[in-house]
Amino acid sequence: MERLDKVLSNLGYGSRKEIKGIAKKGLIEVDGVVVKDNGMQIDPEKSKIVIAGEEVFYRKYIYLMMNKPDGVISATFDNRDETVIDLLEPEHAVFEPFPIGRLDKDTVGLLLITNDGELNHRLISPKWEVDKVYYAHIDKTVDESDIEAFKKGVILDDGYKCLEAKLEVIGPMDEGSEVYVTVHEGKYHQVKRMFESRGKKVTYLKRTIFAGLPLDENLEEGEYRELTEEELAKIK
Ligand code: URA
Repeated sequence: MERLDKVLSNLGYGSRKEIKGIAKKGLIEVDGVVVKDNGMQIDPEKSKIVIAGEEVFYRKYIYLMMNKPDGVISATFDNRDETVIDLLEPEHAVFEPFPIGRLDKDTVGLLLITNDGELNHRLISPKWEVDKVYYAHIDKTVDESDIEAFKKGVILDDGYKCLEAKLEVIGPMDEGSEVYVTVHEGKYHQVKRMFESRGKKVTYLKRTIFAGLPLDENLEEGEYRELTEEELAKIK
């Protein structure tokens, strides 16, 4: 059970004080009865709430797909820099969501954002080995020996041996190569450190797939949208 004003405020119907005002005017009905007590305890999953004649669509969780832009931190709060949460509209921010996993400040692309702690836990757990695909620019030519090394599992600077990863060369660039990398784990700076172990540098990194979900290419950097039912069913 939860307080009526808290439920409505979390759904973006205004501050608790504003909800109190709306209730006082007799504009809120719960299960067909006008409720003037804004602190009334209700079960939002079961009760039908109507405000000024409009039924309230209750939901506990939100699931967003963002095309993370360069220069923004994938965290809920940062002292200096803008975070991905700062980019959300108030109607989504009220759910107090957080990013699932992390992308570096200069990495762009697919980032899922939710307030569903259980899903977050599962998708970042090493046990599930969720696949992640990155598109990258590498400063030097990537060759067959790099592909083999990634397949065997490269050793990072701290001695950690990576799981098997797939490296596909798309083609040469003016300098270096354009590649796709598929990894099944999420160590700190993983892709950059994997290439460092081969004496190469990542100069551009974009995540294109996470847990089987491809980035919606209609999303410009910094834009986001809610996941569709089908997308949600894939990751839940
Ligand atoms: N690997 C990295 O090095 N950086 C990221 O942001 C994601 C994967």
